[in-house]
Amino acid sequence: MARERLDKVLANMGYGTRKEVKKLVKDEGVTVNGVLIRDSSMHVDPEKDVIVVSGEELFYRKYIYLMMNKPQGVISATEDDYDETVVDLLEPEHSLFKPAPVGRLDKDTEGLLLLTNDGELNHMLLSPRRHVPKKYYARIHGKVTEDDVKKFQRGVILDDGYRTMPSELIILNSDEISEIEVVLYEGKYHQVKRMFEAVGKKVVYLKRIEIGPLKLDESLLPGEYRELTDDEIDMLK
Ligand code: URA
Repeated sequence: MARERLDKVLANMGYGTRKEVKKLVKDEGVTVNGVLIRDSSMHVDPEKDVIVVSGEELFYRKYIYLMMNKPQGVISATEDDYDETVVDLLEPEHSLFKPAPVGRLDKDTEGLLLLTNDGELNHMLLSPRRHVPKKYYARIHGKVTEDDVKKFQRGVILDDGYRTMPSELIILNSDEISEIEVVLYEGKYHQVKRMFEAVGKKVVYLKRIEIGPLKLDESLLPGEYRELTDDEIDMLK
């Protein structure tokens, strides 16, 4: 981890605002590797240095786990030359940890996106061998039928000849614009959209609502995010 200003590290760790933290260091002092420091502009390595604040050793967390309700119009990547990315939506105290999105949602897809710097978890959730289910809500142009449900169950042939694994299609409402939920156990490029194309229908709105046991927190508006709770992290591992 790169060296960071002490006040930034302490503020990120929830010891108060930058201003409050500066005052705390000035008034009370903080020890860094046993040396009393009163200047919070000092640079420290929070993973290596032993930092003691008000008698308590700082437990610097290595990993960060965020759940975002990805909005439309934003790219699920860490950087992009033209478009805003999901990482651009993070506060500095979270982007400091350099989290990366777990997998991709299309630019026009909304919903549950995890961001973490825990490479092992990222890899595990995406591993094609683990078949972690992903659940989507979608609005489809055209009436979705029981026949489509059976086709999805058997697997449909995509435009490149690939036959999809069995997936569960749940019809919530079949009309000119149908509402459905679909659970996939794999993640091919544009998969939901291409599966509906394979049965002659078009996805007009797509939102991911679950990844494995994790459900999108519906109190998050598009573009908002929060840290996962310890229970949510344990569920995923
Ligand atoms: N399937 C799609 O077509 N798009 C997504 O963003 C995710 C799944």
